[in-house]
Amino acid sequence: MATAVKAKGRSAGRKLSMSGAAAPAEPIPARAYAARSATSPLGDFSFVRRAPGPKDVQIEVLYCGVCHSDLHTARNEWKMTQYPCVPGHEIVGKVVSVGKKVKKFKPGQMVGVGCMVESCRTCPNCRAGDEQYCDNEITFTYNSIDHKAPAGSAPGTQTYGGYSTQMVVDEDFVLSIPKGLDPAAAAPLLCAGITTYSPLRHWGVKKGMKVGIVGLGGLGHMGVKLARAMGAKVVLFTTSAGKVADGKRLGAHEVVISKNADEMARHANSFDFILNTVAASHNLDAYIALLKRDGNMCLVGAPEHPHPSPTVFNLIFKRRSIAGSLIGGIRETQEMLNFCGKHKIVSDIEMIPMQKINEAYERMLKSDVKYRFVIDLASLK
Ligand SMILES: [Zn+2]
Ligand SMILES: [Zn+2]
Repeated sequence: MATAVKAKGRSAGRKLSMSGAAAPAEPIPARAYAARSATSPLGDFSFVRRAPGPKDVQIEVLYCGVCHSDLHTARNEWKMTQYPCVPGHEIVGKVVSVGKKVKKFKPGQMVGVGCMVESCRTCPNCRAGDEQYCDNEITFTYNSIDHKAPAGSAPGTQTYGGYSTQMVVDEDFVLSIPKGLDPAAAAPLLCAGITTYSPLRHWGVKKGMKVGIVGLGGLGHMGVKLARAMGAKVVLFTTSAGKVADGKRLGAHEVVISKNADEMARHANSFDFILNTVAASHNLDAYIALLKRDGNMCLVGAPEHPHPSPTVFNLIFKRRSIAGSLIGGIRETQEMLNFCGKHKIVSDIEMIPMQKINEAYERMLKSDVKYRFVIDLASLK
């Protein structure tokens, strides 16, 4: 890996001119996999990243996790995809070069990029470090308008994500990956990890609390690991009896088959917090009834069809609440990575070459992955 960084750095680093002054940086050629339309499989694609500016970090991508959002976007299921679309927002790589005003990173360092690469930086949410809730405009890592697109790009050119060999990102949106974490298995922390960590932290999960995690997929398996490491008593809810052993292996103290009404009833009024990761429409009342007075259930799965409206009585009689949560801010994402470094937490992954991405999407639709695919970008080099 060190050799690769060195070789790539040659074309990307600032060249000294005859006079010794730094010459302007050049655009960075990148290879990628892109969807050309909602119905075409992802295939080879080449493009250029912007010439790194003074605050930019140039990253050689090593690994990229495969998130469900990638598939939704590639197939235009949210009806806002610009093509060609290069997905990927669970990115880990090595710093190749840094601009002269970059303070936090240096070449050779292992870094990550998550779901955002820029925000307005001035609204109250950005100023509070909650850039994911920016009131103005967030630039997502892919399929957002790229206001920093390379010179000469067509107006409205979109951002391209981590299914690519190179990234150029402002240092304020780059994360440091703690030493000691397997970089490939750390990649899913950048979306699945922070999506579950942020609500667990926001609702103050700690030792002595009873926490439910609903669903054991990419998000749920991280939720179980993180809630356990925060010291909570963790109960996993799943519809599938085949996941009981795995749930316990990942850290759940108890696994409840949610289809079994008797098993569910035994937990009535007992949870401080429930993190619901299920992205399919389902009856929320069954879980709300399990919350204590003032308990909260937070939803992080985005279903295509709405959940049936919950019964208001269940909420008012014990002052229970339902909330939603979106990823986490940059500062909190770094806090999550440091927490994972300390507790040696990574995702359970299956590594694939880029060329297997279409097959991986089909398997992901059948929940046939434990628990995250990660692309090895060496397969594109
Ligand atoms: Zn994601
Ligand atoms: Zn903002």
